Amino acid sequence: MKYSNFMEVTFKALSVNEGFARVCVASFCVQLNPSVDEITDIKTAVSEAVTNCVVHAYPNAIKGDITLRCELEGDLVSITISDRGVGIKDVEKAREPFYTSKPSEERSGMGFTVMESFMDSVDVSSNSFGTTVKMTKRIATCEVAKEC
Ligand code: ATP
Ligand code: MG
Repeated sequence: MKYSNFMEVTFKALSVNEGFARVCVASFCVQLNPSVDEITDIKTAVSEAVTNCVVHAYPNAIKGDITLRCELEGDLVSITISDRGVGIKDVEKAREPFYTSKPSEERSGMGFTVMESFMDSVDVSSNSFGTTVKMTKRIATCEVAKEC
């Protein structure tokens, strides 16, 4: 039987929770025995996606929530990060390297590019009710998957 597991957490869109999200995913993925490089890649990508929800999704004073879901299926890690914020009008443009809607805040516009380079796949879906980023990565060193 194929090994499978999942976890889901919801937290407020505050920058203090960016570190929480990174550690949360890293702790959960340890069961697949990832290399240090693999876990660093995943943490970096999660950090970028959660930071985007914190910085862009809720421009008003009242901050909404962020849901982080992590699914393991064999050696495949799937991470979904979603918010219920303002959404992205032009996803294709948003994914272009160096595009940022906040140049005045010294953002580099490289968040999605970083996610793409550290993960195997990145899907973005967005509408005026919020944004969902789904990323996947295969763990080459996965011992658990080999046993199943
Ligand atoms: P950086 O990540 O380098 O600090 P950035 O966040 O502007 O800069 P990206 O992460 O690549 O760059 O995102 C590109 C653009 O997509 C953002 O400027 C923003 O307009 C939009 N965006 C990204 N995520 C969200 C989100 N969750 N909700 C609303 N808009 C978003
Ligand atoms: Mg960003």
